Amino acid sequence: MAGFRAVVVTKGETGTKAELTTFDEADLMDGDVTVRVSHSTLNYKDGLALTGKAPVVRRFPMIPGIDFAGIVETSAHPDFKPGDAVLLNGWGTGETHLGAYAEKSRVKGDWLVPLPKDLSAAEAMAIGTAGYTAMLCVMALERHGLTPDRGPVIVTGAAGGVGSVATALLAKLGFHVIASTGRPQEADYLKGLGAAEIIDRAELSSPGKPLAKERWAGGIDSVGSHTLANVLAMTRYGGAVAACGLAQGMDLPTSVAPFILRGVSLLGVDSVMAPKALRLEAWSRLARDLDRAKLAALTSTVPLEQVIEAGSSILDGRIRGRVVVTIA
Ligand code: NDP
Repeated sequence: MAGFRAVVVTKGETGTKAELTTFDEADLMDGDVTVRVSHSTLNYKDGLALTGKAPVVRRFPMIPGIDFAGIVETSAHPDFKPGDAVLLNGWGTGETHLGAYAEKSRVKGDWLVPLPKDLSAAEAMAIGTAGYTAMLCVMALERHGLTPDRGPVIVTGAAGGVGSVATALLAKLGFHVIASTGRPQEADYLKGLGAAEIIDRAELSSPGKPLAKERWAGGIDSVGSHTLANVLAMTRYGGAVAACGLAQGMDLPTSVAPFILRGVSLLGVDSVMAPKALRLEAWSRLARDLDRAKLAALTSTVPLEQVIEAGSSILDGRIRGRVVVTIA
């Protein structure tokens, strides 16, 4: 297969353009493992890469797509051999390294994680980078000592990808989950994932006080900006909030008050460069702690041909849960 189907982003004088085309295998970048990609996903960052709305693509032409699952075709890496089922999240794929929206990808074997035995490629990508990040957030809260008996937890951007998986995971672990969403029509969906309460995100998205009434013991925030500032201001004494996203904004207009007067901790979570040991732990926990029926309920699927259109929808906040992209 010298040429294969791929979504390619190019840069011209008027900006960037994404199109489904044929890509030559000879133009793949260096790597010691070539993977026949079967599934990828649509993450917020992929929406930015596909539309060019933020400069996440650092090299042109680029094949976007920050995560994939597939089968090893050739390998010079000691840990992988042809036929192995693998997955990948981050490491700059779809940003600096040719990514996942293609029938083939060549990457460093060190970036790959074996597909957990209990997960299909489609299920692994239903989880995808958003779900794996949600698990990294859960693990960060657990390391802080947060347990269900400490009180409720809030999930912001709850109907999105990170938020949906975070809601399902925290509920399965026994937490009382307060889901914050701007889509009241998704209340039944969020309750189905295990949310105990739904609040309107408008309660959190405007400038608030440095400290406010204590409402939760911790939370997972994929929204940033005023929302994260208010979540921190409403966190109980000694609590912790894991922050991973910026759907409302990259700013954080807060004060030191929650940290120095209530001992609240802000736990930063990055999935892209996370070390391998943490990835392996997160994926084995996902295979164990994520209810498959709930995973199916939060997943929709698009073929590679429709991913460019779906990229605009995710930036408009019109995507619910997770989107799997079928490639082969
Ligand atoms: P989604 O678009 O699926 O979810 C984001 C959700 O945030 C939306 O569904 C919406 O939830 C809410 N939201 C959107 N716009 C606003 C706004 N203006 N104000 C308040 N809430 C808003 O994206 P993902 O779940 O894929 O990613 C979420 C965030 O996490 C992104 O910023 C992404 O870049 C980041 N991320 C970071 C990672 C890391 O390594 N740190 C890894 C993965 C993602 P609702 O409709 O329920 O209100």
